[in-house]
Amino acid sequence: MDENRGERRAFTHVRALMTHTGEGFIALTPEGDVRLMNEVAEEIFGCARGEFLGKAIESLGPAEIAKTARSVIAVGDCSQPQSVSLVLNGRDLLCTLAPYHDENACGVVITIRDQSELARSRKRAEAILQSTADGLIVYSSAGKITFVNNTAALMLAIAVDDLLGSSKDLWSICGLEPLDTFDPRRGGSQVREVTLEEPVHRVVDVRTDPVIDDHGMYLGFVATLHDVTAEREIGQMKNEFVSTVSHELRTPLTSIKGYVDLILDEEAGEINEIQREFLSIVKENSDRLVELINDLLDISRIESGRIHLKVQPLQVAERIKGAVDTFRAVLEQNGRSITVEVPNDLPRAAGDPDRVGQVLINFISNAIKYSPEGGNVWVRSESDDNFVRISVTDEGIGIAEEDMAQLFTKFYRVDSKLTREIGGTGLGLSIVKSIIELLGGQVGCESEPGKGSTFWFTLPRASADLVRTPTISGPGGVGGTVLVVDQNPEVADLVETYLFKRGYDVIKAHSAEEAFDLAIAESPAVITMDVMLEDGKGFGLLQKLTETPMTSRIPVVVLSIICDEGRSERMGASGYLEKPIDKDKLASIIDDVVGSVASPVVMVVDDDKRINDLLCANLKSLGYAVIAAYDGREAMVAVHSKKPSMILLDIQMPVMDGYQVIEQLKTDPATADIPVVIMTAHRFDDSRAALLDLAAARICKPIDEHELVARIQEVVTQKESQ
Ligand code: ADP
Repeated sequence: MDENRGERRAFTHVRALMTHTGEGFIALTPEGDVRLMNEVAEEIFGCARGEFLGKAIESLGPAEIAKTARSVIAVGDCSQPQSVSLVLNGRDLLCTLAPYHDENACGVVITIRDQSELARSRKRAEAILQSTADGLIVYSSAGKITFVNNTAALMLAIAVDDLLGSSKDLWSICGLEPLDTFDPRRGGSQVREVTLEEPVHRVVDVRTDPVIDDHGMYLGFVATLHDVTAEREIGQMKNEFVSTVSHELRTPLTSIKGYVDLILDEEAGEINEIQREFLSIVKENSDRLVELINDLLDISRIESGRIHLKVQPLQVAERIKGAVDTFRAVLEQNGRSITVEVPNDLPRAAGDPDRVGQVLINFISNAIKYSPEGGNVWVRSESDDNFVRISVTDEGIGIAEEDMAQLFTKFYRVDSKLTREIGGTGLGLSIVKSIIELLGGQVGCESEPGKGSTFWFTLPRASADLVRTPTISGPGGVGGTVLVVDQNPEVADLVETYLFKRGYDVIKAHSAEEAFDLAIAESPAVITMDVMLEDGKGFGLLQKLTETPMTSRIPVVVLSIICDEGRSERMGASGYLEKPIDKDKLASIIDDVVGSVASPVVMVVDDDKRINDLLCANLKSLGYAVIAAYDGREAMVAVHSKKPSMILLDIQMPVMDGYQVIEQLKTDPATADIPVVIMTAHRFDDSRAALLDLAAARICKPIDEHELVARIQEVVTQKESQ
């Protein structure tokens, strides 16, 4: 009696469970008749339970269920549960059919789960993923592609079906080399840029993020393909715009500045005090404009990656001295001091000397500018095992905590009455940060409002490799800048190391275009290049370099695996070296070429030291070797010892004037054929016409830079072709 009660109670529990579960249940006898059915199943099949109890499963309707149930019964007790998916009355059903042991035979329990909601939410999610503008590819933890949206398929020009279910490597389908180091499980996004050409040109950022569940289990990863073509194009257009406008502005400014300087120097006659004062204002403001333009050009170079840094071992103390000297007079005039504290044993840092100087000048000029009440300035340096740290401290207005975070961003200026009065562009510190970070260092600032600020930067210490050792192996290199052109960065680095040790400064380019731009901008002493450039433009570049007047003087040494010495030389190469490169041969070829193609020597004769310096600097930057003489007699002495290729001669000079110099030069057979370009700020004296006619060209002061360059180049090429 008790046993029956127990069974009844157990049955009541089972019934309660079956009623309240969210799933449908049907139990079949070994004959395939319905023995039990719960309310959920009743509702799913849309009928009253009583109708089916005791009837064969076939009477329930869906043939797939009946068929599978019969096969489970036929296989018997040991068969595996089977699944059947079907759509019934608009619902997605998943039925699991599991055998159970009923005395000597085998029955079946059918569990029916309504998956409509799950399917709907999946469809919703897929619709959302399909509608995003980004391409999406989802990988499972086993590395299979489980979802691809149409955007991704379109971007990659691959059919969705070719990707779904496959284990294709993400980078390969993006047309990139597979990455050994790629670990999709790694937290944080990993981004690579890919340029796709089919079906249209696109630049795409491919970013991967792992998918981790609440328990920290890795479920796979998602790759997002973000089209950045427009951004890149706009960025490039902006940079080109800034660069063109700045260059265009620079030309008229050079004239404004140059002429104002000449007027201030009374080259065009005496000026009175008021005129001097007004012109000084014009000068000051044109200087500010030049600075702004230079800053804008720097920013556009940095942003477009066109900034070329010549990293070499630096004596930090020298750089600091150079920068400090520029300001010492200004500070001391106001009774302020600038103190330099650099330990004698400070190790050398690795950096670009000009750029490091620029950073120092920026910090020091800010320290002065933002200390309107006066106060001293300190420049200090120290080092640890890896870095050299340089800091500039002032006793100025200081910076509030809330402004610190943005201090090094473009155009950011602390907004206060004082800074507004002081004026500035907010570009300096952002340029400083980019330069220092490109050099592998860091920048920072500590400050207290009203007390002063310390701006600092670090540079990596120069490694033993970086230290130039030109005298260790045989005679040292001739020196100068070498442009190394090789599409393979490692090879370019290698050539750089060889040449660097030999005492050369090296700049590198990896494509024909980059190389040509650099050759124009930097006028290197020699170019080494592999004609096998990726864009197939190696020989084209060689030809362009030899045909372009500004680069035709630069000797090119071809370093190549392809044995085409004849073609290279026919196309104007000065030397040829087969790869793999023998470093000694390389050094001797470069030394020979640089040594033999000494730049044309131009002698500048002008008693005005300022104009003489300016001309010399301009000519040097154009790749000429320069000799300066400050009067006619000095010039005549130097002409015999230095044999210049041409002479730039001022007419009005003390001791011995330009007319006398021409006369002597032209009557001496040793110097008669040296071309002379004469300059004067006044009218040429027509009574000396015969002498003037002996000159190759005439230039009127104030000198227009372009005219000067054109004249000199004409004269030098004319002379070379004789
Ligand atoms: P600019 O001086 O042309 O405004 P910078 O980029 O050099 O541009 O500096 C950005 C801002 O940082 C300045 O406008 C100023 O507000 C603040 N700043 C820079 N140096 C100092 C300093 N030594 N003391 C106080 N404020 C400074």
